[in-house]
Amino acid sequence: MKKIVGIVLSMFLFAGCAFSASYNTSTNWFDTANVNHLNVIGQNIVKANKMPATVSFKVTDNQNMNTDATYTQIVYIYSGDLKFVENDNELAAVVAHEIGHLVNGHSAKSGLVNSMLSSVNPNMKSDGANTTVRLLKTISSNKVNKENDKEADITAVDLLAAAKYNPLALISVVYKSDIANLGGLMDENLSCEDRIMNIYDYANYNYPATVKANYKTDSYQKALNLIYANLKIRNADPKKLEKAKKEQEKLKNEKLKRVRNMAKSTNPWSSAYSLIQLSGN
Ligand SMILES: [Zn+2]
Repeated sequence: MKKIVGIVLSMFLFAGCAFSASYNTSTNWFDTANVNHLNVIGQNIVKANKMPATVSFKVTDNQNMNTDATYTQIVYIYSGDLKFVENDNELAAVVAHEIGHLVNGHSAKSGLVNSMLSSVNPNMKSDGANTTVRLLKTISSNKVNKENDKEADITAVDLLAAAKYNPLALISVVYKSDIANLGGLMDENLSCEDRIMNIYDYANYNYPATVKANYKTDSYQKALNLIYANLKIRNADPKKLEKAKKEQEKLKNEKLKRVRNMAKSTNPWSSAYSLIQLSGN
């Protein structure tokens, strides 16, 4: 009898495993059940980090649909970012990165840069001049976006760790989306390496046990391979290792400075994040 119960139980557990969330590139992220699940994950992150719980999460096809959630109460997740999500840790990573932008007030900042640029010379009429302004806009917003993404990434690591998701899943998602954009080539892509290194170093400095415990997916291993050579050279050189440690200390101080400013912010996302960070340090 015991044996039968055991078999039935293991069958049940096995069935449970089969139903645990897993996704692939053809997952329809506009499907109601998936949107609902994304909202459950989003709420887990929001609640664990004591952020505004009245918010809801929506999937959009528009990459630039990042409005001020303080007023709209909606956090938009770009469907293109969800394409590379394979499990709940990675789904949480995409959501946390987006919240990272909100916390750091990025939508407001990019808006400011754009309005500054459009006021450069409103009377420029010739095609050449317009092209220059357009180019300037693209270059500048790319630069802002790159820095913003790095800031949102490290905030996401904190948010994920607090909500008990594996922050290393963010590395997997960044790696997969970048490789896909390159057409599947392990190219010498500095920005991807730069971002992965940034997340890895931050996680390793602040959550060493989590990094040691690893995140056992194929894409995470591939992402690590991408930075492995640089990491090995650096870690073998005491001077370089010391420099990297100093950089993380500097990053932490900069973050704490930002967090102290956030505490004065009227944006509930930033102030909630700052309370958690200040009490945790
Ligand atoms: Zn981003």
